[in-house]
Amino acid sequence: MMATDVRATEKPEPEKKRKYDVIILGSGPAGLTAAIYTARARLQTLVISGNLPGGQLVTTSDVENYPGFPNPIFGPELMMNMRQQAERMEAVVIDDHTTQVDFKHHPFRILTTDKEFEAEAVIVATGASPRKLGLKGEETFGGKGVSYCATCDGPFFKGENLVVVGGGDSAVEEATFLTKFARSIQLVHRRDKLRASKILQERAFENPKITFLWNTVVTDISGDKKVHSVTVQDLNTKEAKKIDCGGIFIAIGHDPNTQIFKGQLDMDEHGYLILKNNTQTSVEGVFAAGDVHDHKYKQAVTAAGFGCMAAMDVEKYLQEKRHK
Ligand code: NAP
Repeated sequence: MMATDVRATEKPEPEKKRKYDVIILGSGPAGLTAAIYTARARLQTLVISGNLPGGQLVTTSDVENYPGFPNPIFGPELMMNMRQQAERMEAVVIDDHTTQVDFKHHPFRILTTDKEFEAEAVIVATGASPRKLGLKGEETFGGKGVSYCATCDGPFFKGENLVVVGGGDSAVEEATFLTKFARSIQLVHRRDKLRASKILQERAFENPKITFLWNTVVTDISGDKKVHSVTVQDLNTKEAKKIDCGGIFIAIGHDPNTQIFKGQLDMDEHGYLILKNNTQTSVEGVFAAGDVHDHKYKQAVTAAGFGCMAAMDVEKYLQEKRHK
């Protein structure tokens, strides 16, 4: 997807210290909400933006389900607002990504591409990334007909013929959801069986707007200013055909951005962080918020809520630690 950069404003950067009360990894809704709360609690706060400053919302156009905005707000604008709000509270936000962490010793050590920081507490808000098909058209038409989130983008495809890719709960649920807006949906799946739960399958099979292309993969996405068609190939017959469509929703799973925490934080078999006592990870003093642990809701507003919770847990943790 085409990402609009949500980077630092032109005002002089605040002085960077080596040690902070709390370092927040990630600058999506979870990370920036956490920063607003910790900075407002007068904790010295550093946010390390990560590879995609502003997180997944910067790859979305209009956002119309984030409360507080009666009219749609452009995803990058929403994230820039959150960043400026955090900076107004005196959080320091840097555009860099974390290359290594040491959570085995206290204070925790965080290494970025060219800096090293220490923190009394850490909030991991590194999010998740939608899996991609690996086609060139995914980059070319990101935000122009290629989407990874039906809840976010579905309403912009009223009356269109759409393609959905995947065979899990997300793909089948999203296909069904999209029938509220679209004229027709072709669900393209690489096997002859869905892995989605039976009830979701039943709903999709009963829906007259959804047809299924089994044992089929998408090999190309084309268009001009936006998507006009996709090419699919039948894996058995090797036959290729073009499907005219106004958009393609790719729902082949998400991968949490947790690679650098392997061996240091407990995670499930899919790499999502496992939390206890609300937002605490397996290491005391390291908290987590947003899609990095949440594989169920995955919404900007739920991520922001988790960010708030993690910040309040950090505040309590540091207070108790300092009074010991
Ligand atoms: P998922 O269960 O991992 O399913 C991914 C689907 O994409 C699979 O059908 C897989 O095909 C296909 N796929 C993967 N890589 C592909 C590729 N490169 N090209 C083409 N197809 C590819 O992911 P998910 O559907 O996002 O669900 C993730 C988790 O969230 C699951 O535990 C799910 O139960 C849960 N979830 C629950 C709900 C709900 O309960 N309402 C809704 C959404 C998600 P194969 O089948 O051939 O492997």
